[in-house]
Amino acid sequence: MPELPEVETVKNTLKKLVLGKTINNVNILYDSIIEYPTIDEFKNNLVGETIQDIKRRGKWLMFILNNYVLLSHLRMEGKYVIRNVDDEYNKHEHVEFVFSDLSTLRYKDTRKFGRMYLYKKEDVLINKPLNELGLEPWDDSLNVDYLKEKFKDKRLPLKTLLLDQSIIVGLGNIYVDEVLFLSKLNPEKKTNALTRDDLKNIIDNTRSVLEHAIKLGGTTIRTYESSEGVHGLFQNELLIHGKDKCPICGCMVTKIRVGGRGTYYCKNCQK
Ligand SMILES: [Zn+2]
Repeated sequence: MPELPEVETVKNTLKKLVLGKTINNVNILYDSIIEYPTIDEFKNNLVGETIQDIKRRGKWLMFILNNYVLLSHLRMEGKYVIRNVDDEYNKHEHVEFVFSDLSTLRYKDTRKFGRMYLYKKEDVLINKPLNELGLEPWDDSLNVDYLKEKFKDKRLPLKTLLLDQSIIVGLGNIYVDEVLFLSKLNPEKKTNALTRDDLKNIIDNTRSVLEHAIKLGGTTIRTYESSEGVHGLFQNELLIHGKDKCPICGCMVTKIRVGGRGTYYCKNCQK
């Protein structure tokens, strides 16, 4: 599944390919990808709109148009490909945006789990799904007091709360293990036992782990199609997730399940 760093890379690659293009026509070959509005409204509202920018919020791609914002979530297997208007469809291509220069952007998804929403610009932040998201890792409002407030009265383990996308977006399972290792914190720790320094470390390490993963993504991904590549490369640099021995003390790494997710940590280093 693409994580935040992969989606960031897809966004940056797509920007180079489709910015400034105007949509002439939209073809939808699998209706369920379109979550909102109706298929007809989706198509009609997009015709004549130009892609002015592409942003990311959590794992949602935001295509900023003249009057609308198109939201797209890749879920497990979603990808974008550029084709010409008369190229035959691959059987996994489900949504096609035809541009005025006769190139097309096609959404391809073998599992068909991806979803799209189209909102007027003024409505996009106040509706599902964006209104349910927590802070971006680099948001200035993500600070010790914010986490203290969000963790207040919570009985769930630290790792589970860090995976909660309504608190911070973008920390997937592997990334959380790395952040907690660097912060020297046990994934099962209760959040009321955390000091201000612990919270500060979590924030700093969240930023550095994700920045590092994005940087690797930017150097490996050669085409907008391969979102797998980033994961592959970042995996070479993991410190604790999937490892046998702790790189700091040499102890055997402990593997447990936290909130149902496979979790790696060092009993000796992470208290
Ligand atoms: Zn250790």
